[in-house]
Amino acid sequence: MLTTIASYSFPWEAHIAKARLDAEGIPAFVADEQTINMQWLYSNAMGGVRLQVPEQFALQAVDILAEDHSEELEQELGVASVSCEACGSDNTEPYQIGKRWAFLVFLGLDFPLFPVKSAHRCKDCGTIQKD
Ligand SMILES: [Zn+2]
Repeated sequence: MLTTIASYSFPWEAHIAKARLDAEGIPAFVADEQTINMQWLYSNAMGGVRLQVPEQFALQAVDILAEDHSEELEQELGVASVSCEACGSDNTEPYQIGKRWAFLVFLGLDFPLFPVKSAHRCKDCGTIQKD
């Protein structure tokens, strides 16, 4: 049985994630839901293109995607240049609040109730501030 572990606005994002999982030996599939039904409503609300893996690989796959997802890319794009409110340092990194919980809730209820909030964490003083 396939489990949806992530959804993306654009197909290429899903394929980048799929390639990463493939490299780790996890079979992943990109599901393009074109059918208009309740499932379509959900997938559309969640961003569109879904990434699926066999159920037994789901937690491992999420860990892999959570580890290096966005951080390196965002730093390359300069998204991380946010000043710390507490100490004024520019030495911050992207930090996501609630990602793992959103996934666990999604697994149980088939719908994400916890929004994933993006934030930045200061590497100097450890303060986490919401964007
Ligand atoms: Zn700081």
